[in-house]
Amino acid sequence: MNDVPRSFRGNSNAARDIAHHLHPYTNFKKHEETGPLTIVRGRGIYVTDDDGKEYIEGMAGLWSAALGFSNERLATVAYEQMKQLPFYHAFNQRSHEPAINLAEKLKQMAPVEMSKVFFANSGSEANDTVVKMVWYMNNALDRPKKKKIVSRLKGYHGITVASGSLTGLPHNHRSFDLPIQGVVHTLTPHYYRGAKDGETEDQFTTRCAEELEQLIIKEGGADEVAAMICEPVMGAGGVIVPPKGYYEKIQAVCRKYDMLFVADEVICGFGRTGNVWGSQTMNIKPDILTCAKALSASFLPISAVMVNEKVYQALMSESAKIGTWGHGFTYSGHPVAAAVALEAQKIYDEIDLFGHAKRMSPVFTKHIQSFADHPLVGEAMSVGMMGALEIVADKKTKTPFDLVAVGAGNRVYNHAVARGLFIRNMGDRVAICPPLVINEAELADLFGRLRQSFDATL
Ligand code: PLP
Repeated sequence: MNDVPRSFRGNSNAARDIAHHLHPYTNFKKHEETGPLTIVRGRGIYVTDDDGKEYIEGMAGLWSAALGFSNERLATVAYEQMKQLPFYHAFNQRSHEPAINLAEKLKQMAPVEMSKVFFANSGSEANDTVVKMVWYMNNALDRPKKKKIVSRLKGYHGITVASGSLTGLPHNHRSFDLPIQGVVHTLTPHYYRGAKDGETEDQFTTRCAEELEQLIIKEGGADEVAAMICEPVMGAGGVIVPPKGYYEKIQAVCRKYDMLFVADEVICGFGRTGNVWGSQTMNIKPDILTCAKALSASFLPISAVMVNEKVYQALMSESAKIGTWGHGFTYSGHPVAAAVALEAQKIYDEIDLFGHAKRMSPVFTKHIQSFADHPLVGEAMSVGMMGALEIVADKKTKTPFDLVAVGAGNRVYNHAVARGLFIRNMGDRVAICPPLVINEAELADLFGRLRQSFDATL
């Protein structure tokens, strides 16, 4: 009994967690050995564990809690909506005001003119819905072979069967029998890792576009390839900001083959990249846009799919032919989640959150870039209020640290946790993506702790 860690004993949270809770995204064996870190409360950009230790949440949870971890107004709106109408659905022509209001607000905010808004509960469900919309649309247009969807290696679009197939990360496919047929992956636009010797950024993005076109041709061209989905800036794949000109080139290829362009704004949406939408930062003109996470400041689960008039008219024509569009979730546009999301958007407007994020972006960039000459850092990259540092064993040769000492990201992560800071460990990259409400002094504190964590890893 003596070698059982204190927190695993008896009726502790850790012991009960190990006994009962099957976690998402977790190494089960490691979890049984080391147990969970249990969070009990939030305050501003901080969260506190069940030992009373406070952490700066340098990842806004999962790239999502834009307002941080406490907000009375959102709690009150949820309570009031629960008293008035705790649940209703939107099937078979029913509706309710929170969903109507939120759909209207999102259309007003959209980066391009959008026609309709569909609600789901998570980013994965939103992107799954997109796959089904694309298939349904092409059946409507009498193009039954035009069903393939292109996404990118290292892209992240969720974990359900279809969205997990769009995701281009090996650990989301391995042993799950993904991806499904009809989803194909093209190059990651990561200049630091992907460029050939001597290749300029312009040559690199041209090659990305050429390889995309070759893939489309190989997969049957305009007859068979229906859409491409992109996160404006890749998040879980490593915070990868494509070089200038990339999106212009790949969108031109998609137009040439009459493909829809889908922007997955689940992370980038609502101010993260310095503008309301990543599509604005990256000059993307989407036909379909998905969002979630900061839509409700992550206080409740809700996601949305916005479609333009062309897509809507196709969905409409098929539904007119066959009847009910047989897709939707019990909780599509859940009134409490929708009311909270609408209130979050009102708060964003009132405190000028997007303006604040834009003003903080150069400060964030300066902190990230201050790591560029750290001996462990090969690449320091950021846009807006999201960034990553790539850890290398040799800056000149870019030799990955993981080749010479396993788990460099993990070591930095552990040092950061010990210093009361949560960052994201992505193998040889660590990510920082704090609540957008963070101020200058808090940013300095966050990056001070991060520097200590890097220095301790040396
Ligand atoms: N799309 C992107 C860009 C994401 O980052 C995520 C989650 O991190 C998803 C989709 C999936 O969202 P969810 O975890 O809510 O299913």
